[in-house]
Amino acid sequence: MTAATALELLRASPLDALDARVLLTHALGWRRTDLITRGDVPLSDTQIAGFAALEQRRIAGEPIAQITGRREFYGLDFEVTAAVLIPRPDTELLVETALHALDGKQAPLVADLGTGSGAIAIAIAAQRPDACVIATDRSVDALVVAKRNAQRLLAPDRAGGVLDFVEGNWFDALVPLTPRPRFDAIVSNPPYIAAHDPHLSQGDLRFEPASALTDHADGLSALRAIVAGAPAWLKPGAPLWVEHGYDQAAAVRSIFTEHGFRAVASLRDLAGIERITGGTTPP
Ligand code: GLN
Repeated sequence: MTAATALELLRASPLDALDARVLLTHALGWRRTDLITRGDVPLSDTQIAGFAALEQRRIAGEPIAQITGRREFYGLDFEVTAAVLIPRPDTELLVETALHALDGKQAPLVADLGTGSGAIAIAIAAQRPDACVIATDRSVDALVVAKRNAQRLLAPDRAGGVLDFVEGNWFDALVPLTPRPRFDAIVSNPPYIAAHDPHLSQGDLRFEPASALTDHADGLSALRAIVAGAPAWLKPGAPLWVEHGYDQAAAVRSIFTEHGFRAVASLRDLAGIERITGGTTPP
């Protein structure tokens, strides 16, 4: 019997067609175009076994991004491990909105609280080489991944300097910094899924760090801490933007208003869901 070809393996795979293609090219070290040029060449037993192993991990539910160790976000190729939230396309809205808020500000100082893989901080830094970006996380393991991503994805000689990664919970992480920073913008995609939300035991979320997904409370506790703390760290008239769950926009707007924020507004993601909320400190 002749050995299977890549195209035959794809046809026989029980996986979703796109997932199968991504895993097969990853297993073989191929580019997508190799499927066209080499797709009908018989593979070696080692190659076939390599793909079968990845296929089994996917069948067991492991996210594609964790199997390949990669996920694209804002046009950048991020390393992803089980220590970080997998960057979501929804979150690109947060980056876009922060960049818009920074328009016209020279060498702005920006904070990303709970940076995880570093996706938000690094995407902003890549678009605004003059920005100085401080990224925090409570998880040391996440910061290791974020630092590797920054090193690989950002020019070492960018005008804003290397990203500053600090360990700690929300604003606690910033307390040791001297001089005390005052930010032109603060952004965060905190854990906002409520403790007993059934989504936590479904799909990719089962494999992502719980601490990046849920506050182990009502879903709003991290958002409350961030909104309450932000005015003391923002320049006058500077914005805070946060991502939240599909049904939390009205509650998050109230929290912003309670803490004296002006121009409080929510924006819709590509699915039409109010996904981020922001406001500015008084001028
Ligand atoms: N957007 C993620 C999800 O619902 C949750 C991310 C978060 O809690 N910050 O899958």
